Amino acid sequence: MAWDRPILTDSGGFQVFSLAGIRKVTDNGVAFRSHIDGALLDLTPERAVRIQENLGSDIAMVLDECPPGDAPEPVVREAIRRTILWAERCKKAHARADQALFAIIQGGTNLEWRRDCADPLVAMDFPGYALGGFSVGESADAMHTALPAAAELLPVDKPRYLMGVGRPEDLLAGVAGGIDMFDCVMPTRNGRNASAFTADGTIRLRNACHRRDSGPVESGCPCYTCTMFSRAYLHHLFQADEMLGPTLLSLHNVAFYLRLMADARRAIEEKRFAAFRAGCLARWSKAA
Ligand SMILES: [Zn+2]
Repeated sequence: MAWDRPILTDSGGFQVFSLAGIRKVTDNGVAFRSHIDGALLDLTPERAVRIQENLGSDIAMVLDECPPGDAPEPVVREAIRRTILWAERCKKAHARADQALFAIIQGGTNLEWRRDCADPLVAMDFPGYALGGFSVGESADAMHTALPAAAELLPVDKPRYLMGVGRPEDLLAGVAGGIDMFDCVMPTRNGRNASAFTADGTIRLRNACHRRDSGPVESGCPCYTCTMFSRAYLHHLFQADEMLGPTLLSLHNVAFYLRLMADARRAIEEKRFAAFRAGCLARWSKAA
């Protein structure tokens, strides 16, 4: 991949756990059937590390077990025990000095469970820490409350990464809570579904009101899509099921997310992040 920028790879654990019904979890690892050809595959901590070392990403993630947001305590406790066990094995198997292996904290929205997972992992001294198991079915309020407290369990001098989150307002909540890194499918998934993020809130390009709108998706946005095409053209592409529509809107949504993060960084440097966040939330909610 000719991408001369930092690359992060996940262990594949989360993807396997989303295959409910066709997987079996033991302390050894996860056995699952390929959804493509039905082949029986084994993902162990050691294999997850080896694959990511071969890929050569800058940041690799340990194999962890991510229980659903509504899982009962014994299930979460078991996932935490296994997540710690697997992190230890991943660290032992990891050999590439030019790649940072991050640990993942589970425990849902329960701070006590988060602490039970974080303490032993922090003691293992990983170069960075991720919070997994957020945005897995719990309410946004529950997540926004638990986030800062969970982030506080992690070392201040190492990157804190919130996995799989989220909407623009969730990112700002994460930043306020001390999170440094995010990843999410939302900009591209929403882009594929004709939903655009803008400074004035979300708009749906399929709506008839955009049929004759010659303006860009977001005025002032310097991205390729906004520079070259109108809302009316994108509306037409989505109405006609042309694959260019999802591509163009994904480009804009990724540009929007990158701009939001750059603006947040600048606001932090200029010590006005709280006002920046409040301004964003007020503007987005006005549109909704
Ligand atoms: Zn744009």
